[in-house]
Amino acid sequence: MRLFQTLPNASDSAARRMLPVSLEQLHLLLDHLKGIVGYFDTENRCIYANHAYANAYHTTVNLMVGKHIREIIGDAGWAFVEPYAERVLAGDAVRYVREIDQNLPSAHWIEVHLVPNALEDGRIIGNFVFIDDVTEQHRAQQAIGESEERTQRFIEAGTEGIVFYRNGTIFDCNDAFQNMLGKHREELIGMPASHLFQKQDRPFAEKHMHLGRETRYPAQLPHADGSLITVEIAGRSVQVNGQMASVAVVRDTTQIATMNEALLRSQNRYRSLVDNSDQSAFFTQDRKIIYANPAAQKLFGPHEDGLRGVESLYLIHPEDRAYALMRRKQLIAGDTNTEVQIRAISPPAEHINEDTRITWVRLFGSIIEWEGRPGVLIFLTNITALRESEDKMRKALAQEKELGDLKTRFVSMASHEFRTPLATIQTSSELLQHYNERLSPEERTDALSDIQRAVQRMQAMMDSFLAFGRMDAGSTVFAPRNIALLPCLQGLLHETRSAQYRRHAVTIYLEPPLHAQTHLMLDEILLGQMVMNLITNACKYSAQGTQVSVIAAQQDSQQGKQLLITVRDEGIGIPDNELPRLFESFYRASNANTIPGTGLGLAIVDRAARAHGGSVQVRSQIGQGSQFTLALPWIEPDTA
Ligand code: ADP
Repeated sequence: MRLFQTLPNASDSAARRMLPVSLEQLHLLLDHLKGIVGYFDTENRCIYANHAYANAYHTTVNLMVGKHIREIIGDAGWAFVEPYAERVLAGDAVRYVREIDQNLPSAHWIEVHLVPNALEDGRIIGNFVFIDDVTEQHRAQQAIGESEERTQRFIEAGTEGIVFYRNGTIFDCNDAFQNMLGKHREELIGMPASHLFQKQDRPFAEKHMHLGRETRYPAQLPHADGSLITVEIAGRSVQVNGQMASVAVVRDTTQIATMNEALLRSQNRYRSLVDNSDQSAFFTQDRKIIYANPAAQKLFGPHEDGLRGVESLYLIHPEDRAYALMRRKQLIAGDTNTEVQIRAISPPAEHINEDTRITWVRLFGSIIEWEGRPGVLIFLTNITALRESEDKMRKALAQEKELGDLKTRFVSMASHEFRTPLATIQTSSELLQHYNERLSPEERTDALSDIQRAVQRMQAMMDSFLAFGRMDAGSTVFAPRNIALLPCLQGLLHETRSAQYRRHAVTIYLEPPLHAQTHLMLDEILLGQMVMNLITNACKYSAQGTQVSVIAAQQDSQQGKQLLITVRDEGIGIPDNELPRLFESFYRASNANTIPGTGLGLAIVDRAARAHGGSVQVRSQIGQGSQFTLALPWIEPDTA
């Protein structure tokens, strides 16, 4: 028997090239094959089965041979196989896959090839059976089938158009794609994919398709009704039935485009609103001004390109920038309290100079999206006038408060300082009234002198109040006269001596170029008040017998030439931390408690110096002494 000579479909199989072999040799060969091999006659009786075949059916080769196939595979198996058996006996090579149940834990699948054995005249004398266990492949295929089914379901259910093409030609698409273009599947299949596009877009589309990468690009596709639909296309390569193909997912973005247009229209409307607003407004992105309305341009002064591109920080006073940046951060983080009061500068610049105009503004910021990116829209109001009136109000309030404080300080000072001289007057006058006859003439004189000194002290205090009151009310008039400096100072010194401070060595020095005849334009009354107060204090706050110096000198300063009058003592000094408050009315240093005083003297000096267009400075060291220096404008009589 020549087994292989008539094998149809055995294209380049080794069988063709095999030399005829003996049947025994063949049996030997077939028995060692793992695959199942058998031969059946036209009656479907087994003529030959290899070991694997017998094993598969839990029998032996000898038991199989001569049996009808039905006896081997059972009734159910035969019902399935019979049609194939008929076909193979009609001359067809047949292939089928079937499930076999051989009490195995899970289903097994076999692939059966039935190959007819025909003689040269075409007569069929039997058929070969080749069986493979294809359980694994079957399972894999089933899995693929299921996932394909799922994909198919997804493809059909989606609103996105899906189109498959291979070598540039469409071979499948879903319903959504047909609906999108208003075209039937029949029209689409077989059509070049690039023909989905308008002529002018085809080269571009072909390039994209050719790339085969997962690219996403916008496009416009013609609809069957002649309109154009705006889409976004994402293409990629896929395997379809084991072959490479391309799939494109097409999303209709016409609606999005319409929305964008509407947005743009609303942006334009918004812009025209902002343009015509009285409020200044500008819009910044990445801290640069993208747009400023006319009001903002007016506020910040003329600027090329309407402030466009200007660093937004440069609109803000350098001292307020850190604060503005912090508020900006808070705004981005979602803070809803977006009001900020800062100083704006014009023209915008990194640094300010004397020409910079400073405006107080109130800002409101909000984050908006502009042309697809977030930015900060800022509205600002000029509040300079408001701030100024607020400032005035604050000052008026402070003044009122100061006045209140002043009254309190005056009452406490007066009740303290008047008590001593009043008590002196009372006791001395009672003494004189009740014991006049019994007093010696010296005792009487002493009592009267005490009364006079107390009255003088009260008089001095009243003078201070009046002087201070006049100055505080601003009614002091600066009336300079031609004055010979040295005689004037000597006269003042004499007055203080005659008042009470006779126990100090007070010396007047003139530093060149000053000399005995130096004449200057000075207000004699103000000068008197200043120098008297300073000499009195120097004597009052230093031990008897110590040195007090009055030094007159000339100095060149930024304000021009100045007359300096320094009063220096070797007294108790003033605590460092109290120096700044020394010129406040009623202020007395903590180490002056035991020495009578009103706390008005230096306040008067300070105001008089300022009325003179000058100032007063103090330097002091506790326990070492103090030095007060008046700096007054040097005005010579002939140049006045
Ligand atoms: P008073 O009437 O208290 O002297 P002033 O206004 O003249 O008021 O001085 C204010 C305070 O300054 C004084 O109470 C004192 O504490 C301090 N003071 C002024 N001059 C001197 C000085 N030469 N030496 C030390 N302390 C002084």
